[in-house]
Amino acid sequence: MSDVLFRKLQKQLDQYSLGFPATESGIEIKILKKLFSVDEAELFLQLSPRLETPDEIALRLGMDSQEAANKLREMAGKGLLFSLNRKDVIRYGAIPFVHGLFEFQVTRIDTELADLVRQYMNDSFRNAMASSASHFLRVIPVHQSVPVQHKIAPYEDAIELLRKAKPIVVTECMCRKTSKMLDKGCDKSREVCFMFGSMAQYYLDHDMGREVDLAEASRILAKAHDEGLVTQPATSRNPSGMCNCCGDCCGPLSSLRSYPKPAEMVFSNHFVKIDDGLCTGCRTCMDRCQMDAIQMNSSDLAIVNLDRCIGCGLCVGTCPTEAITLMQKSSGQYQVPPETTMEQMLNMARSRGVI
Ligand code: SF4
Ligand code: SF4
Repeated sequence: MSDVLFRKLQKQLDQYSLGFPATESGIEIKILKKLFSVDEAELFLQLSPRLETPDEIALRLGMDSQEAANKLREMAGKGLLFSLNRKDVIRYGAIPFVHGLFEFQVTRIDTELADLVRQYMNDSFRNAMASSASHFLRVIPVHQSVPVQHKIAPYEDAIELLRKAKPIVVTECMCRKTSKMLDKGCDKSREVCFMFGSMAQYYLDHDMGREVDLAEASRILAKAHDEGLVTQPATSRNPSGMCNCCGDCCGPLSSLRSYPKPAEMVFSNHFVKIDDGLCTGCRTCMDRCQMDAIQMNSSDLAIVNLDRCIGCGLCVGTCPTEAITLMQKSSGQYQVPPETTMEQMLNMARSRGVI
């Protein structure tokens, strides 16, 4: 009986965001059973991402209002629902697996869940992440990589995104936290994922992150860039968050790296050009690149494979001879992200054929 219920839950989650596809091994059901009790799964199945008050939900489901309010509060506290408190009215809604159920376990994840999620990410979810990457995975270069004469749109400028965000919350990167729990992670900074606006408020309300001002957020971003983390805001002009991660630990980036042409799959408006007259063959750029986009030619000079370059800019500022220049794609290839995260979600759902 409970397997039927959790399969129904898997199918509902498969409609949202990147989806939550079934696997042959059934590992996704183990993840759901680890996260939800039977009661919680039943209530989640009655909700949608549209936010509702406990009274509205209670009326719709024939529940006692107080009982509904208690259950919803408890589930939001466990990272199983999104909640938004506006003028002391709290509303709740269902969430996707990513970004949602997985990331909201940031203060609760244990080794068992980390192991289940890592197995799932290496199974069907890897393809789900890669096939929606053009809507889900946006990469922008941080300002150290951008030449001064290069005009950059505000939604492509990480500092501008931080400046606009209120509040800014920083939280631990779930991908690197998971890898570390499984003794596979790198030693780069972990507290580097930013949440903005109502998503930031959700993190604050549930003690999942801490509020930082623009100065501290800028320092965290600069350190992440120095350490070689790729800056990835949500694919909208008003993103709900901005992650910084590496090609080894990050689920979406590592999935992208396993494909031959990551540049075609990601939402990015940049690429790099290398001046071989200036290159000394030091290989620093090769080490910095998270997409294996740079190789040495027979003369031991760096060359970039544009099918693999996602325009993150990590190789630019560390080239000792300034041989690498960040370029903006031509107007025919330049993409403007949708205005809001809701539009991003709808675009993703359309591309997956679920609406
Ligand atoms: S970092 Fe610069 S100098 Fe060193 S190999 Fe790369 S392009 Fe050449
Ligand atoms: S070559 Fe690699 S490090 Fe440089 S911008 Fe492209 S993807 Fe980023």
